[in-house]
Amino acid sequence: MRKGLFIVISGPSGVGKGTICDILMKNKNIDLEYSVSMTTREKRDYEKEGVHYYFTNKTNFEKKIRNNEFVEYAIYNNEYYGTLKSEILSKINDGKNIISEIDVQGAKQIKKDFKNSLLIYLLPPSMKELKNRLIKRGTETSEEIEERLKIAVIENKNTYLYDYVVINDNLENAIKEIENIIKNKIIDNR
Ligand code: ADP
Ligand code: 5GP
Repeated sequence: MRKGLFIVISGPSGVGKGTICDILMKNKNIDLEYSVSMTTREKRDYEKEGVHYYFTNKTNFEKKIRNNEFVEYAIYNNEYYGTLKSEILSKINDGKNIISEIDVQGAKQIKKDFKNSLLIYLLPPSMKELKNRLIKRGTETSEEIEERLKIAVIENKNTYLYDYVVINDNLENAIKEIENIIKNKIIDNR
């Protein structure tokens, strides 16, 4: 059986990765399975365990690194984030298409290890708008927002690693563009 696609959605914090993945899953225009990552960062109020992330502590995460339980993992802003083998490998081997929010470091690893990958980078229309979105979301302090914006400048230099770059200005347009990219890649993968 043909393996499923590993679709990676990257982009700076606040660009709209979570919003877009939620809508793609709800639209059901494409058969996709969302990969829930594991992280050591604190849970936000609206987040649900096992839906948005598997939340854990550093000791447990490091134990899983030693046990080789991750497909990839990275440190972002002093916290661990990773994709568990148990979350995705059997699904991909069963031909299911996986979508996951993964940072630039993890995306490099996926590109190297998975032949059937599709890497999409989301850009904001401007850094000012990115800051507005982070402020509007209201999940980080102003210091944390500044930290995430600094990381964003570095991350945004890596778009050349990606198969596609999509600007998330108008949300509906960005969704349509991403759905088209994924549909075409699924056709190529047949
Ligand atoms: P990320 O997952 O990339 O960190 P989120 O999906 O949490 O980003 O989005 C950050 C904020 O920006 C949220 O409040 C979301 O509603 C808003 N947002 C997402 N896409 C757009 C868009 N195209 N236009 C305006 N606001 C947006
Ligand atoms: P946030 O704290 O905003 O949810 O995520 C911070 C960063 O971690 C984002 O760039 C997000 O894409 C990334 N991230 C989330 N899950 C994973 C993962 O499993 N692996 C890697 N490498 N990065 C992830």
